[in-house]
Amino acid sequence: MKKYFFIFGLIIIFTNMFSQNDAKIKVEPPNWWTEMKNKELQLLVYYPNIAETDVVIDSKLVKLVKVNTVENKNYLFIDLLIDENAKAGNFDIAFNKGKKNVVKYNYVLNEKTAQKRGFSSADFIYLVMPDRFANGNPDNDNSADTYQKVNREDGHARHGGDIQGLVNKLDYLKELGVTAIWATPIQENNTKIYSYHGYGMTDFYRADPRLGTNEEYVEFVKKCHQKEIKVIMDMVFNHCGDTHWWIKDLPEKSWLNTDSLFTTNYRGSTVVDPHASEYDAKKMVAGWFVARMPDLNQYNKYLANYLIQNSLWWIEFAGIDAIRMDTQPYSYKEFMAKWAERVHLEYPDFTLLGETWLDDVANVAYFKGDTKIQTGYNSGLNTITDFPLNYAMRDAFNQEDGWASGLSRLYSVLVQDFLYGDANTNVTFLDNHDIDRYFSSVDEKLDKMLMGFGFMLTTRGTPTLYYGSEILMNGKEHWGHPTIRKDFPGGWKEDKINAFTKEGRTDDQNTLHNFITKVANYRKTSKALTEGKLVHFVPDNNTYVYFRYTDNEAVMVILNNHNTEERTINKERYAEILKKYSSATNIVTAEKLTNLDNIKVPKKSITILQLNK
Ligand code: CA
Repeated sequence: MKKYFFIFGLIIIFTNMFSQNDAKIKVEPPNWWTEMKNKELQLLVYYPNIAETDVVIDSKLVKLVKVNTVENKNYLFIDLLIDENAKAGNFDIAFNKGKKNVVKYNYVLNEKTAQKRGFSSADFIYLVMPDRFANGNPDNDNSADTYQKVNREDGHARHGGDIQGLVNKLDYLKELGVTAIWATPIQENNTKIYSYHGYGMTDFYRADPRLGTNEEYVEFVKKCHQKEIKVIMDMVFNHCGDTHWWIKDLPEKSWLNTDSLFTTNYRGSTVVDPHASEYDAKKMVAGWFVARMPDLNQYNKYLANYLIQNSLWWIEFAGIDAIRMDTQPYSYKEFMAKWAERVHLEYPDFTLLGETWLDDVANVAYFKGDTKIQTGYNSGLNTITDFPLNYAMRDAFNQEDGWASGLSRLYSVLVQDFLYGDANTNVTFLDNHDIDRYFSSVDEKLDKMLMGFGFMLTTRGTPTLYYGSEILMNGKEHWGHPTIRKDFPGGWKEDKINAFTKEGRTDDQNTLHNFITKVANYRKTSKALTEGKLVHFVPDNNTYVYFRYTDNEAVMVILNNHNTEERTINKERYAEILKKYSSATNIVTAEKLTNLDNIKVPKKSITILQLNK
């Protein structure tokens, strides 16, 4: 029954939003909500010579505060104040010349929904590139109003995967133990080339028609929530696509960073470096990410409002749980802090995850809202992408163990957790859409894959699985992006192999898949693994032992990194934890250990034990 109300509600919203309005006028945000804490709203209006009109609003819902004209006469920025007591409703914004009306826009205010949102260390995130995952609707593969067409033979072209494909695979993900989905951007990317990845947006308010409609995205979020899966939406404030509609007719020259037509140096370190030159620091944030992605100047006050309101709009419109912000250090950091403040004012529990692709723990910790580093700057981000631990996870099982190599890489990064308030909220990952597939990082060795996933799922942090790594997909960044963004086999009707099913997977694929399923689903029920304290012991003799525990439960993890020899773990060194326990259960094999005095672990392996009193 509820569903019908929902669809009926949507029909009303969309009817109001679009059908009555002149197709030539663009108003963004296209609608808004009552009961926002901040009652201010700034509308971007785009229409030929709109600056030559008078704006008239006759409504008790809002007060017209100010009409701002900018360099380009085709734009107006209208400041509104929503009435404290306004209930959902709509009003006309009339643009008049003298007594004659030029154009009108019917603006809708809906009621804000109060929901708790956000993700935590209890979650297990699945990062997916929708174009490459599953094609749930072949009818939307090409659209008349977008440039790039489907061609699965071309790794840089569109492949046809979509939002419906994600919906179709929710049960697969749920079974795997996934509790949150982070899809690379679904917003329109109508660029002429390389549009499939989503990071060159050409319309901030519209889902790309080749992925689906805005309404389909809303339905996707709703279906995820029904299955207790959260949705993390990917956004980009640093840049846009070169064919964005406002790029063709900019409101103001300063909308973009054009006085510095060079590419960024990709050195996020210049943002924190006390010795950084002005040249380097400027090149980092004002340089373009690539030539096809114009760099947005968030010092332009209209653009700043525009971006902040866009994220609030998606939170309320689609009911998402979190935002993953692309290229966080490349945008002006003062603006980014303002954005986080604004989001958290409306949604205190909402999670903001910043992509912080930086080498060192200190650099990354600087960008996290709970940083312990006293510089006077606070990003307000709830969490960051833990690249330093990623680098360590890629090294650890490939290297010989030494003072600073092999397992010590893991140990040494975790030691630096004192720079974070709570490192357990860090988002961890073995690989992602920009770097080598983990399987390729570990020389396509299954034992190292199991160690990597086992470690990530049991150490501190909020783990992320990059789609396809559960079935041993390979690929290296320097082989070209298409090699790390291949289609998930079975996502297309014509696929000969369907790796979404046990029968369609090889034995090795099933070994890893079953392992992840076991550990991730166990993790869901284990406070020790999701909230517990981490205590680890300095790696020794090719082994690394750590515990996750609460007052009531404990998990012991043993990594043996030796290529040929088994190891025996003697209770004595670990007595501070083990003294409370008499037996253990291997959470993967279900094997029981009735004596913890000497635990034998095979070569090149991970052993995960639930400790029993
Ligand atoms: Ca499709």
